[in-house]
Amino acid sequence: MAFQKAVKGTILVGGGALASVLGLSQFAHYRRKQVNLAYVQAAECVSEPVNREPPSREAQLLSLQNTAEFDILVIGGGATGCGCALDAVTRGLKTALVERDDFSSGTSSRSTKLIHGGVRYLQKAIMKLDIEQYRMVKEALHERANLLEIAPHLSAPLPIMLPVYKWWQLPYYWVGIKLYDLVAGSNCLKSSYVLSKSRALEHFPMLQKDKLVGAIVYYDGQHNDARMNLAIALTAARYGAATANYMEVVSLLKKTDPHTGKERVSGARCKDVLTGQEFDVRAKCVINATGPFTDTVRKMDDKNAAAICQPSAGVHIVMPGYYSPESMGLLDPATSDGRVIFFLPWQKMTIAGTTDTPTDITHHPIPSEEDINFILNEVRNYLSCDVEVRRGDVLAAWSGIRPLVTDPKSADTQSISRNHVVDISESGLITIAGGKWTTYRSMAEDTINAAIKTHNLKAGPSRTVGLFLQGGKDWSPTLYIRLVQDYGLESEVAQHLAATYGDKAFEVAKMASVTGKRWPIVGVRLVSEFPYIEAEVKYGIKEYACTAVDMISRRTRLAFLNVQAAEEALPRIVELMGRELNWDDYKKEEELETARKFLYYEMGYKSRSEQLTDRSEISLLPSDIDRYKKRFHKFDADQKGFITIVDVQRVLESINVQMDENTLHEILNEVDLNKNGQVELNEFLQLMSAIQKGRVSGSRLAILMKTAEENLDRRVPIPVDRSCGGL
Ligand SMILES: Cc1cc2nc3c(=O)[nH]c(=O)nc-3n(C[C@H](O)[C@H](O)[C@H](O)COP(=O)(O)OP(=O)(O)OC[C@H]3O[C@@H](n4cnc5c(N)ncnc54)[C@H](O)[C@@H]3O)c2cc1C
Repeated sequence: MAFQKAVKGTILVGGGALASVLGLSQFAHYRRKQVNLAYVQAAECVSEPVNREPPSREAQLLSLQNTAEFDILVIGGGATGCGCALDAVTRGLKTALVERDDFSSGTSSRSTKLIHGGVRYLQKAIMKLDIEQYRMVKEALHERANLLEIAPHLSAPLPIMLPVYKWWQLPYYWVGIKLYDLVAGSNCLKSSYVLSKSRALEHFPMLQKDKLVGAIVYYDGQHNDARMNLAIALTAARYGAATANYMEVVSLLKKTDPHTGKERVSGARCKDVLTGQEFDVRAKCVINATGPFTDTVRKMDDKNAAAICQPSAGVHIVMPGYYSPESMGLLDPATSDGRVIFFLPWQKMTIAGTTDTPTDITHHPIPSEEDINFILNEVRNYLSCDVEVRRGDVLAAWSGIRPLVTDPKSADTQSISRNHVVDISESGLITIAGGKWTTYRSMAEDTINAAIKTHNLKAGPSRTVGLFLQGGKDWSPTLYIRLVQDYGLESEVAQHLAATYGDKAFEVAKMASVTGKRWPIVGVRLVSEFPYIEAEVKYGIKEYACTAVDMISRRTRLAFLNVQAAEEALPRIVELMGRELNWDDYKKEEELETARKFLYYEMGYKSRSEQLTDRSEISLLPSDIDRYKKRFHKFDADQKGFITIVDVQRVLESINVQMDENTLHEILNEVDLNKNGQVELNEFLQLMSAIQKGRVSGSRLAILMKTAEENLDRRVPIPVDRSCGGL
C-alpha cells in the first residue's frame, strides 16, 4: 500500500512524462483518477482480502451451512445487497449473502448505466428550494467520484450533450449545468462548456440541425452495471463473505428474545434453486435488500406489513453504434410526455431510454412493442432527417423495475421517497430500499450502521470509500498493451478484457486458446463482431456463472447488445460450460432452451422476430417485385420456388466466395419463417418489404443475395476483340 501511495504521489507531481507516454486525453483521465487521494488513504486501514481468489460456490454453500451464526445475512445480490455485504465484511463482521437468481439479474443489470448526481433532481432542488433534493444530488456526486476511482476499469467519465433549440434556453440550461459542476466541487469530473451550433454538429453530426441554436456539454460517469455488481460481490467474497447466487430465501427464522420476550428475526430458510436442497442460515441481523421484492420479504416477517414499494418499469433499446458519436451521449430533457431520455454510446453500441410505467412485480419483465416505439419516436425527434431511424435497427431491448419506495414511518404514505429508506421492523428485520445505483455504497453504509446499532454488533466505521473493487487496484489505461504484447491478443480483444476484468485480465488471457492463425495468436472469438472470447466462458464459471443465461447476459453482455449474436453464440457457450460443469446432453438442451426463451421474451428477440414474421402484407411496387423475383431466381436457378443452402453455396462458389456451412445455415435460418429448411419466394418478398419499411435491417441473406447478383451481372463474357486474347 505504502509503495502504491508513493507511486501515485509521484504521478501527481511529475505528470509531464506520463502525459507524453499516455497521450493527453488518457493522461487527463488518469490524472483525474489520482486527484482524490483521500479515498485511497481512507481505505488503507482495511486489512488485505483473506482470499486471493473468491472461493468456489460449493465452498460458499458449505460455509453458509456450517457457520453456527453470522453477524449479518443479506438477502438480495443486486448492487444494494452486494454493497451491504462488502461494507459489513470489511468492518470485520461475519457476513453472508444469498441471491435467488444470479448476482445482478434484477434491476441492477438493466439500468441506463449512468453514474450520476442527476441534473434533473438539481433543477427540482433549485426550482422548489428543496434542501433534501439538493443533499441527495450532493451525496450522489460524491459517490460518483468514489465509484469512478474504485473501479476505474469498469467506469469512465462520459460527456453528455444537451442540444438547445431556443435561444432563451441557453442561459437557463447553462446556469443549471454550471451549478451541477459547482455542487460537485472537487468531485467535478470535468467542467461543462457551451458549444456553438457548428461545433455541436461537429461533435454530433447526426443531430437534427433545424432550429438548433447550440449545445451544452456536461460530464457524468458511465459503467458496465452487471460487471460492476459482480465486482462488488467478488470483492466481498475475497474479504471473506459467504456469498451464493441461486440461493432463495423461502422464509425467515425467528426466536424469542429472552430479555423482552418478543420474537426476533434470527436467520432464514434458504433453498438452493439449482438442486432443491434447503437449509437454515442463522444470523444476528437479517438485511432485506431485494429491490422490487422488498415487500415480499417484509411480509415474510410480518404478514400485515404495509406495502412500501411502488414498482415502475423502464425500457431501454440498443441500436448500432453509428447512431451516436463514439464518446458523447445526448440528453433529451423534455420528451413529448415530459420525461428525460438518454441516448448514449455504450460498449460500441447506442442505448436509448428509458420509459417509466407502473407495473406488476415480476422476475422476468418484458419490453413491450409500445415502449420500444415510444423510444424510437423520441430518438427520431432529435436526429437529422438524413438518418432513417428504423425499427429493424433495434438489436436488443430490455425492461427493468425501479424499486421506488414510500417511507413507512412517514406521515404522508402516498409520497414516494426521493432518497433511500432504511426501515427496522419490530422483530429487527432491516430493509434497505429505493435510492439508485450510483449511491449503492452510501446506502450500504447507512444500512450497516443501522444494523450495528440495532443489534449491538461490534464493528468499526465503514471502510468502503476508496476500497478498490476486484480488478481495479492494478489497472492502468495502458494495461491492454501488455495483453497484446505478452499474449498475442488482438488489440480490440485486449482492450475489452482490460475494461472488463481490470488487473484480472491476465488470468483470462492465460486461459485463451490458440487461434491457429499468424495473428492473433490466442483468443478465439465467440461471435465475429464482438470481442468476447471463449476463455471468458471458462473464467466466467470461476466468477459464479451457473447457467448459459448468466454467461450471455452478465459475464459477457452479449444479450444486452445484440440478441441475434447472443443466440448464435449460445451453442458454443453451452458446449464450453458443459465441459467445465459436466453437463449431459439433456442438461445442455435444457440450458439452450431456457437461454433462447430468455432472449425471446426478456431481451426483445420476440419483438424483433415479430417484425419479420408479420405476414400482414407485402407492400412492394410491381417493379420492385419483378426486380426481387429476378434476384431470387438467380439462386433458384431451376425455378423450384424456394432456395436451399445448396443453391446459396452454388452461387457463392461461382463468384469465388467462401463461407462455412454453419454460417450459411444461420443466414438462411434468419429468414426461414416456417423453419422448413428453405426460403420460399414469399418469405423472400416479405423480407424485402420489411426492409423497405425499415422494420428489418442488417439481413445477411438480403445483403448477400444483392452482392451476389451484382457480381454475377458483372461477369458477362468479354468479347474476344476486347480481351486481346485468342490467336
Ligand atoms: C430503467 C432503469 C434505469 C436506471 N438507471 C439508473 C442509472 O443510470 N443510474 C443509477 O444510479 N440508477 C439507475 N437506476 C436505479 C438502479 O438501477 C436501482 O436503484 C438499483 O439497481 C437497485 O438495486 P437493488 O440491489 O436494490 O435491486 P435489484 O438489482 O433488483 O436486486 C434485488 C435482488 O434481490 C433478489 N431477491 C429477491 N427476492 C429474493 C429472495 N427471496 N431470496 C434471495 N434473493 C432475492 C433478486 O433476485 C434481485 O437480484 C435505474 C433503474 C431502472 C429501472
